[in-house]
Amino acid sequence: FRPETGQEAQFLASLIEYSIAQGASDLHLLPRHDGSHVKIRVNGELLSRSEPIGSLELHKYLVNRIKVLCSMDITARCKPQEGSFSVPAQEFCCSVRVSLMPTVQGEKAVLRFMGNSKLLSLEQLGFDTETLARLRETADSGEGAIVFVGATGSGKSTSMYALLKKLASSNLSLVSVEDPVELYLPEISQTSVDERAGLDYPTCLRSVLRQDPDVIMLGEIRDEVSAKMAFQAALTGHLLMTTVHARDVREAFLRVFGLGVDAVSLSQSLKMVIAQRLVPKLCERCKVVDLQESNILDFECYKPVGCVICDYTGFSGQALVCESLVLTPDLRESLAISKGEMPSAERLEDSSAYIPYSRGIQSLLRQGVIEKAACL
Ligand SMILES: [Zn+2]
Repeated sequence: FRPETGQEAQFLASLIEYSIAQGASDLHLLPRHDGSHVKIRVNGELLSRSEPIGSLELHKYLVNRIKVLCSMDITARCKPQEGSFSVPAQEFCCSVRVSLMPTVQGEKAVLRFMGNSKLLSLEQLGFDTETLARLRETADSGEGAIVFVGATGSGKSTSMYALLKKLASSNLSLVSVEDPVELYLPEISQTSVDERAGLDYPTCLRSVLRQDPDVIMLGEIRDEVSAKMAFQAALTGHLLMTTVHARDVREAFLRVFGLGVDAVSLSQSLKMVIAQRLVPKLCERCKVVDLQESNILDFECYKPVGCVICDYTGFSGQALVCESLVLTPDLRESLAISKGEMPSAERLEDSSAYIPYSRGIQSLLRQGVIEKAACL
């Protein structure tokens, strides 16, 4: 990635490393009449400067270097091309997806950094102590399924990576099938789903199961064949961690049943369900006491204001809140005879194995980390 010689190649390496260090999701290289321009997208905002970084000649070198990294056709300049390469970093490896497009001024390159988020430990994720202890215990048991749910961008992959990282230190055979691999972990055999190449989830999972795995991470379960295979594997001495498309714990059951997994298999294989979401954290620098809400709540809570530090938004960063359920013997029993219905809300609330969203939210509100409006 960073060669010993070649100024342009080294310059590109520095540019990419700088973007990753800034937490950028994308890097744009645009040819314009006055030279090569750079834009980076950080936290959704596209940042640029008016001056070019160099001549159009340099731009051509940079694009060529990108093509070399992606093993693309260097001579093709008049057609869109796509490719990828990876950037080694200390703790992880960032994968970069490249898109090249011919424009009237030359080829425009857009580099997307996949999984450009630091690998967090389980403790750094922000789970409450009880959920964390239960998650650890479930993972240490070495078998059964742990299912994560939540909206896109709610940090499910980050949680699974943290769990994988924890397990990687033990003598276990760890595999993952993802669409695509977002973060490279050296101790884990990771495979990216590539449906165009015939490498879909069922195909990958079937092969992976023949490779003597102890722990299987499946990016998502979205088809019936994989669902049945995965929960069967969780029944037969494998630890499975995966996600399904659902908003909360109860909906997760509905989704898994909808994928054709029968109630008896699920009751025996499912160990834990975690639903998670991220809420905006108040900027520590400018938050003020919300007198009106504090009076209603009977404890001091805060509201956002906005300052230079938080770019006048009043918020900085996000906090994790979760809902979790551990399948206890009596829950298993009722699940087995449920005929594919999700557990009732009352049933969950009565169970000590269930932690609702409201608990984490209340705790963050009391600590002054989030505002009242975030609790809705
Ligand atoms: Zn602020």
